[in-house]
Amino acid sequence: MIPAAYYPTSGLGDHLMSTDIMADLRDTVDSLCDPHQIREPRWTWDHNRHKKQLPDHVVILPGLLQQLADIVYPGSPPDNGAGPTARPVPSSRPPLRMDAASAHLSIVMAVTRWHVSLGLELRDTLESSVRQILGRIAVEDSDTQAVLLAEMRSWQRQAEVICGWKDPDPQLQVPCPHCADRQLRVNTATVTARCGNCGARWAEDEDPHTGLYSIGVLARHIADHQRTAKAGADRVRQAERERKQRATGKVA
Ligand SMILES: [Zn+2]
Repeated sequence: MIPAAYYPTSGLGDHLMSTDIMADLRDTVDSLCDPHQIREPRWTWDHNRHKKQLPDHVVILPGLLQQLADIVYPGSPPDNGAGPTARPVPSSRPPLRMDAASAHLSIVMAVTRWHVSLGLELRDTLESSVRQILGRIAVEDSDTQAVLLAEMRSWQRQAEVICGWKDPDPQLQVPCPHCADRQLRVNTATVTARCGNCGARWAEDEDPHTGLYSIGVLARHIADHQRTAKAGADRVRQAERERKQRATGKVA
């Protein structure tokens, strides 16, 4: 828990916003770094066909970063302080999952970049480095906190998709208005969108200071693009029709 005195106090609105962002940051870091427990109830029926509850089936899952690392480096030690011999290294290894390797590497690079920009020393494990960033970000302004939150949520989202907890967001075949790359993905549950190439983000509540644009602007961009694309396709079809008419001498 970070003392309230560390929150920026440039204004009451900023203070409240920062408090919300810090709470969201703590939740995101918890899901990235902390093991969590899944508890499933179990039942049986006795000879009188009475339903009886058995002890719950309990599974402890490592944090998302560890789950991602387990896919990239099978047999890597968990971040539980038990040391490198905690898990046996299998003699045969499955083929490298490139999506997991690329996501893990980009998270490691982003964590390193945050450490450099905040003047921190990297810790032994990725998880403790992430927790260290969380401890330090409380004294930064709310814009910086919002940028970190957006980045950490994208790590969380990538890890959840790669580890099989969530389906990937649908991808649009429309170029990004900022970089023209066709990697726009929409999340219909949160009514947000993001570009997988340049990292631009869109939401209902825009905040251009932190690179968060209005989803309404993106919707208009998509509609404009579809109109232009349809007009272009109509022109091509019309030209093809005229070419055939000239070739056969007939009027369709
Ligand atoms: Zn882009």
